[in-house]
Amino acid sequence: MIVEKAPRMKATKAVRFQYYPNEELIALFNTFKQMTNDAIGTAIQHKITSRFKLIKTAYQDLKRYQLHTHYILSACEVACAVIRNRKRRKTPYIQNPFLKLDNQAYKLEGKTIRIPKKPRQFIHIQLEMGDYQKKLLSDPNIKFGSVTITPRNVVIAVSKDAASYEPEGLIGFDTNEASIDGAEICSNKVSFKSYSLSAVKTLKHTYYAKRRRVQRRFCNDRRKLRELQGKYRQNEKNRTEAVLHRVSKRIIDEVKSKKRGIVLEDLTNIRKEVNRKKNGINLFNGKEQKISVNTKNMKRRLNTWTFKKLQHFIEYKAKWEGIPVSYVDPYYTSRRCPVCGCTVESNGHLTECKNCGLKMNRHLLAALNILKTKDDTLRFRVDSSPSEAVIRSLSKAVSRRKEVHSTPEE
Ligand SMILES: [Zn+2]
Repeated sequence: MIVEKAPRMKATKAVRFQYYPNEELIALFNTFKQMTNDAIGTAIQHKITSRFKLIKTAYQDLKRYQLHTHYILSACEVACAVIRNRKRRKTPYIQNPFLKLDNQAYKLEGKTIRIPKKPRQFIHIQLEMGDYQKKLLSDPNIKFGSVTITPRNVVIAVSKDAASYEPEGLIGFDTNEASIDGAEICSNKVSFKSYSLSAVKTLKHTYYAKRRRVQRRFCNDRRKLRELQGKYRQNEKNRTEAVLHRVSKRIIDEVKSKKRGIVLEDLTNIRKEVNRKKNGINLFNGKEQKISVNTKNMKRRLNTWTFKKLQHFIEYKAKWEGIPVSYVDPYYTSRRCPVCGCTVESNGHLTECKNCGLKMNRHLLAALNILKTKDDTLRFRVDSSPSEAVIRSLSKAVSRRKEVHSTPEE
């Protein structure tokens, strides 16, 4: 999964607008939903998986809804995607109201988006536009893609051909539960910057406790329970994403101002590793063991860890700015000495190499190893590794975070 320095790369983004739906639009949502579910039914009945074949088969039938032709094409496209992605054998169906239209069907005029309803009949939607949206839409290089409209938002996909630059150096990022830590080597000197994700960790724990509370309280009222849990899930998602967007933006601003490239760990298989079983017994840290409360909590935390989302945010924002991003295998990056390659021993957040005497913060060590996995020619002086004071302040910050989160769990 290595994205090498390409001269140009296609970057995509989704811009979200808020708006207030009117009754006409809500009626349209429902008609489109019925239409798509009809198309799904047709596709399953005739065993069709290709979009064009489905359009050909279902076109005449779907015309009875009397919507604009664009909706028929779009309903067939959505139906095929739903069938392709279904997980169960049961007939899938669309539950949530939404509309999807390709870029030829809508027109953006200033703050208004015009979508078709019936032939020669349109609906105008007034969009709420902030500075971010205004700035993005005024970019002459962007191309507009499809639009998705839900009762809450209008989301327009945009893309551009971003010119990427030749980086003057690399920054390796070690993704952790409570922070993402970047290290770079600049003329043999190591510099280190930590971005806190403790807000995400707190949120995860808060909502976990909240969900457990309502689970107990409303165990006899499934309707209420489902409603509350859905609400919490949505709130948790919104709030963690807001933090991740903020952190990734700060990282991108910093990397861009320094004209660096980004190296991340490829953590694709970490969940598989966490949940691995042998003869029906859970393996944890490679050892067979009965799941204790501690490992259970640890497993939950690792399974809900949002590393992938953060890396995705960093990657698409980087592409938009033309910053090259690459991934490396994280194997052994937190256990190897970056100077001599021996296995290090860790004592809390401080690691020590018995061979060469290098003492370093655990996260910095991992970030340095990530850099070195990408570029083996990198060298740095041991004496220029961060001073004791830096290590101490880092360990302190981490242990302070730990105190906040070590509240006994229910
Ligand atoms: Zn060493």
